Amino acid sequence: MQEYTYPDSIVITAGHVDHGKTTVVQALSSEWVARHSEEIKRAMTIKLGYTNVDLYECGGEYPIVPIGLIKDGKCPDGSEARFVRRISILDAPGHEVLLSTMISGISFVDGALMVIDASMQAPQPQTEEHFIALTIMGTKSLVIAQNKVDLVNRDKAIENYMQIRGFIKGTWAEGAPIIPISALHRVNIDALASTLNNVIKPKAIDLSKPPIMYVLRSFNVNKPGTPPSKLMGGVIGGTLLQGRIRVNDEVEIRPGLKLGDKYMPIRTKVVSIAIGNQLIEEARPGGLVGIGTLLDPALTKADALVGSVVGEPGKLAPVYGSIDIEYHSISRKGIDSSLKVGEPVMVIIGSASVMGIVRSFKGDSASIDLRRGVCTQEGAKLVVIKQVTGRWRIVGWGKLKG
Ligand code: GDP
Ligand code: MG
Repeated sequence: MQEYTYPDSIVITAGHVDHGKTTVVQALSSEWVARHSEEIKRAMTIKLGYTNVDLYECGGEYPIVPIGLIKDGKCPDGSEARFVRRISILDAPGHEVLLSTMISGISFVDGALMVIDASMQAPQPQTEEHFIALTIMGTKSLVIAQNKVDLVNRDKAIENYMQIRGFIKGTWAEGAPIIPISALHRVNIDALASTLNNVIKPKAIDLSKPPIMYVLRSFNVNKPGTPPSKLMGGVIGGTLLQGRIRVNDEVEIRPGLKLGDKYMPIRTKVVSIAIGNQLIEEARPGGLVGIGTLLDPALTKADALVGSVVGEPGKLAPVYGSIDIEYHSISRKGIDSSLKVGEPVMVIIGSASVMGIVRSFKGDSASIDLRRGVCTQEGAKLVVIKQVTGRWRIVGWGKLKG
């Protein structure tokens, strides 16, 4: 089995649809989710697209150059490129119907790359929504790419830059670097990579903790008509927050199967682990891993297990069917962010996005009945979003009471 280089951190892209998030990821990387099966590839670019970006050291003003600018092991100036580190980028969907997907992604990343179109007024609505989500989730590291500078003159670029500065002024992100780039024309991508390298520090990974994996995708990888003797077990795609999962490990999946009003955890055995199409022995934090199991593929088909948590049997957090939370509404122009008894809301906890009905709301306490069980624990942070005139908007956040 080949040696695998694990990414040392995960960065999520953020920003309004069409501002160039996916193009920036393409400019940084060279293998845009190219090595996954068609089904996985299609599914991941629609939902959360993961790609690894290897960073190299080269000479020059911006010493860190991404794999996207390395050709045959050589730096743009022709010198030998030296591998420094691998980071993983989660390309968030910009479309607002996928706001919950974006928010669940933020819960396990180490930093964000906000992409802003220099030719438009800043901030645009989805940029603002994503920024609020990053703020709520306590993201600490932010790099802003002022993209499409090829479309504007110097004055326009400065005006847009000042709008961005104004937008983040007085917030946690006030000092965030803003790097002008053209992702399409591969301009200043070395400056962006060098900045990412400085701002996003490698995360210390504790492999001794019991594993916790968020399920972000789940599949039935069998073609219709496969004879039973050749059927492959269900495949789960996700990311580890801590610990490790090895081939042959017994794992538990929660919430599991619903029986009456209780959930029964699912147990299975790991038969294979893959990153892209490379088989590895051990899954670790960083990047999207696919885990082959002995589960009936009917259980994993069509993302049925998304929002579940995988871990060591008996060691996972409890499952909640309703939650009592300490609620903080976020006051926003034109949006009534208070909760109303009986109203439907969506709650994002970890990788789970679940519809719920507000059962009670008083002061800073709220209770919400969830449509599906969620494996989580006391103190967990959650985001509440509501449809306001047909658009999903963040209205508040909460902390789970015991
Ligand atoms: P996303 O929705 O944020 O992922 O945006 P995409 O990466 O899909 O880009 C949206 C459109 O903007 C595409 O047509 C890109 O080719 C274009 N685009 C991206 N970056 C640049 C850039 O630097 N300059 C110009 N002129 N167009 C760009
Ligand atoms: Mg995109």
